[in-house]
Amino acid sequence: MTEHHHEHRNAYEPDCIFCKIAEGSIPSRKVYGDDEIYAFHDISPWAPVHFLMIPKRHVPSMAQVRPEDAGLLGRMLALAPKLALEQGCNPYPEGGFRIVINTGAEGGQEVHHLHLHVIGGARPWLKG
Ligand code: IMP
Repeated sequence: MTEHHHEHRNAYEPDCIFCKIAEGSIPSRKVYGDDEIYAFHDISPWAPVHFLMIPKRHVPSMAQVRPEDAGLLGRMLALAPKLALEQGCNPYPEGGFRIVINTGAEGGQEVHHLHLHVIGGARPWLKG
């Protein structure tokens, strides 16, 4: 991966798999979609419920988030609980879910298009 992929915040990055998922050229199991947000099931789930929420616009990670992205990130977070329940997470407080945003190599990020992991449905849910 080149610096280009880490630094640029273009609307669409042709080499980004999550950009391709957002536009539909790579198939995914859809959870939700609107003009700016797409959600789909993780291909390698850590728990009974595990989906990813992404901005359709290419943002490489939390490290590139700017103040003007606050509304978008807020809408993603505000939508997550509704989608979690729809996908089978049990209700709070006995149930619930975890939201994870891996950022950079030391944050465990493998795909460099910002994504929220929404994970639940059972304990323990820890990766690997
Ligand atoms: P990261 O480590 O936070 O970057 O997580 C990337 C996640 O994307 C992992 O949990 C992968 O299983 C998931 N993933 C990678 N490729 C695909 C795909 O094509 N469809 C759905 N999920 C994917």
